[in-house]
Amino acid sequence: MTDSHYLVYLNAVQGWANSFHRDLFPSGAPYDPFLLASHLGVSVQEIDLKGVDGYVESFKGDYRVFLSSRAPFVRRRFTLSHELAHVIFMRTAKRGGIKDSYLVRYRRNGLPTSEFQDEKEERLCNAFAEEFLLPTDVLRQRGFSSDLRPCQILGVASEFRVSMHAAAVKFSRLFGRHHVVSSLWSLKTPWPMAAWWAGNVLVQEKVANQIRHGDPRAISKKLCI
Ligand SMILES: [Zn+2]
Repeated sequence: MTDSHYLVYLNAVQGWANSFHRDLFPSGAPYDPFLLASHLGVSVQEIDLKGVDGYVESFKGDYRVFLSSRAPFVRRRFTLSHELAHVIFMRTAKRGGIKDSYLVRYRRNGLPTSEFQDEKEERLCNAFAEEFLLPTDVLRQRGFSSDLRPCQILGVASEFRVSMHAAAVKFSRLFGRHHVVSSLWSLKTPWPMAAWWAGNVLVQEKVANQIRHGDPRAISKKLCI
């Protein structure tokens, strides 16, 4: 795929996300990928997977997404959104809307391998998932400044049901011209641990509550360069 093709598809995935928001979620966030799957006629199963978060397969013309039941809830939401983008790409390609054969990928018989993956398509599916779960324009309209507090990142993560890491990455893109550093540490562990590493929503929510209520066991530090 050429870079210009990539940019065309990048606009397309953002347009898909926007139209789903408009049609399926008139009252706004959180944007539920399970509802989107149902709208697209894609079945979703959560099963015990090792080493992967999920995959999509074609079965007699239907698409089925399998998600790891081991993954945290916010991760399953992201993975499902990503896999649904693969489905939309494959359906669009079948209808002739996409000429580029690189965009057709089937992950047959279980675990996906790199043989069935295309790096640019993966990036596009990630872009769709990011935009679907946490729309850029909606965030922009909130009027956040680059003088961002950790509780604002946590508030957005909680409202949009995305990971703290995903919310932080989105903010960093929104304020691309500024360098924003925000670190969040939990002191409830045997030694201070970055909350980003916990990967556990309950832990993240506990830390967020501690910060909101001024609990000294949670410390936060923000540095704008
Ligand atoms: Zn993928």
